[in-house]
Amino acid sequence: MKTDSKRFTEYRYWKNGEWVNREKASVSIFDHGLLYGDGCFEGLRFYRNRPFRLNRHLERLEWSARALAIQLPYPKEELRAAIIECVNRSGLESGYIRLLLTRGEGDLGLNPQNCHEPNVFIIPAELALVDDETRKRGVTLITSSIKRAVGTGLDPRIKSLNYLHSIMARMEATAAGADEAILLNQHGFVAECSAENLFIVKGETLFTPPLIDGALAGITRETILELCDKLSLGCRERSLTTYDLYTADECFICGTGARLIPVRSVDGRSIPAVAGPIFNTIVKSFDSLVADECPVNRDFIV
Ligand code: PMP
Repeated sequence: MKTDSKRFTEYRYWKNGEWVNREKASVSIFDHGLLYGDGCFEGLRFYRNRPFRLNRHLERLEWSARALAIQLPYPKEELRAAIIECVNRSGLESGYIRLLLTRGEGDLGLNPQNCHEPNVFIIPAELALVDDETRKRGVTLITSSIKRAVGTGLDPRIKSLNYLHSIMARMEATAAGADEAILLNQHGFVAECSAENLFIVKGETLFTPPLIDGALAGITRETILELCDKLSLGCRERSLTTYDLYTADECFICGTGARLIPVRSVDGRSIPAVAGPIFNTIVKSFDSLVADECPVNRDFIV
């Protein structure tokens, strides 16, 4: 939704400290982010021109970068200011920001030792991953044959530029006529979906897989955990198998892009309460938390 065309500019992409248009917002074909998926990123939303949980996103980017041994070339304060400016330049009242860090330009070898300058980009966008109809009806999930590797490969807590596991899983879901895929870890425990964390409700209690089972430390997930605490809803981080999903009373997925979406079926087993009472309570309280943390920005209204 565009609200302020005066601030909207084609120079709304931030590239290594400069504001550029889409044409200039590019990387070299020798950038290791492109060649090898060598880098990491963040996706965050803004509401009423205010980024939601920006500090947490910057912290997670920093942790991903540290795990990959990439030096963030800008202090977090500078990235913070650039993101806020990017929101203004987008001309959008609510939207999505992609922040990414690549290893930078090197040669064709894998070894990053010749990559001396990481690249950082900030991209604003309107992002609606699912239409309102699907959101209301609930999504269908299948269990993917692609596994999240726990303790044996790239740690799933790193939000790296390599999303091939997720992409392959999502393709499997599409081929099976489902909306989204669940990735198990190599031990058969539920990790997460291709780009969302997952919760189930059994009786009065919510359950979500612990991060160590192969889930990204989702900021939406952690916000929901906080809300459960505030609302005195029982919520436990516990290893789950597909049996737990098949026999759940409610199930939902959550992420910055998707927000909170109810699940209608898992591997063809119907979930009895789609957008059930606990889901609805959490959505309501999530929306009011967003309204509190991202109040109307008077400075922005012309
Ligand atoms: N898992 C994966 C693999 C993701 O890509 C995302 C989206 N960032 C999530 C979970 C949800 O995380 P968040 O709530 O921080 O967007």
